[in-house]
Amino acid sequence: MIHSNTRSGYPISPSLSFRNVKEWDFVLTECARDKQGSLSYKLLQVKFICRTKLLTTLKRFFLLLTGALTLAACSAEKTAQADRATSIITAPPQVPLRPNPTYQTPPYASPSLRNPVSNLSSNFSPNAGVSFSSVRNNGNFIALTFDDGPHPRNTPRLLDMLRQRNIPATFYVIGKSVNLHPEITRRIVAEGHEIGNHTYNHPNLTKLSNASVRRELDTTREAIIRTTGVKPRTMRPPYGALRTSQRQMIHSEYGYPTILWDVDPLDWKRPGTAVVKSRILNGTKSGSIVLAHDLHSTTVDAMPTTLDALLAKGFRFVTVSQLLAMKGAPQQ
Ligand SMILES: [Zn+2]
Repeated sequence: MIHSNTRSGYPISPSLSFRNVKEWDFVLTECARDKQGSLSYKLLQVKFICRTKLLTTLKRFFLLLTGALTLAACSAEKTAQADRATSIITAPPQVPLRPNPTYQTPPYASPSLRNPVSNLSSNFSPNAGVSFSSVRNNGNFIALTFDDGPHPRNTPRLLDMLRQRNIPATFYVIGKSVNLHPEITRRIVAEGHEIGNHTYNHPNLTKLSNASVRRELDTTREAIIRTTGVKPRTMRPPYGALRTSQRQMIHSEYGYPTILWDVDPLDWKRPGTAVVKSRILNGTKSGSIVLAHDLHSTTVDAMPTTLDALLAKGFRFVTVSQLLAMKGAPQQ
């Protein structure tokens, strides 16, 4: 039987005939497409079923020769295609170069004041207290706190500003946002800031049962530990709202002191950057806990000049735990 294999309607009708060939078969392979889109085919294989030993030998020789020729033709074609593709990728862009005489190098910004490095302990005593809005000290130490983050745009901007000035802060994060932005939460910790528990859904805790309060704190604590590997050591109730009995319960069960504040610029009302700055500068004194929100872009906008002004006034920034550790400790 003489059998011809075809592809894409491309008939092969071999005119060859051998007396002793019982059966033979062509196999074609699609090898390339030319510029007009026509396919060209290469002979890949020829099969014979032969009647004699001589023809079997001839068959082997013919198969080897055909295979070698076909492979060489295909690889040459593929190399040519690869060369064409490479030449497209590596061709240099034809961008005309024009002089720009109006461009000037931006003026050099002088380095910011930097918070001094301090190796203060953050191990506060469980007996230091249940609730704090400031911690008096003689060293001009203050704690800057930012609530309701992490925020995908504002928190990284704020972190840049703090890093530039070597200022540690304390972030009271919402558990739900920790799960939404784990990479920013990890950055907060990696850059030396403290993280505190600010509940999972930001509810008014005074309206919740103890079981619900525990659920808010537990889910947030677990989100922080899972994300950063560190345990929060203090908590701040949303809106500063927490009954005395709840503060006691949280302190005894979680070891969290309730952290409030003594400086509140009311930045959540978005009064403008100048007002945020002046309220913080006018209200801050040694031992202050300053409340702000990295949730709001205007608050972060106000930070560079606010931080520089606080540094210029001689304040030294510490985390909330470091500030609490000063309670009862010898003053510096
Ligand atoms: Zn809040």
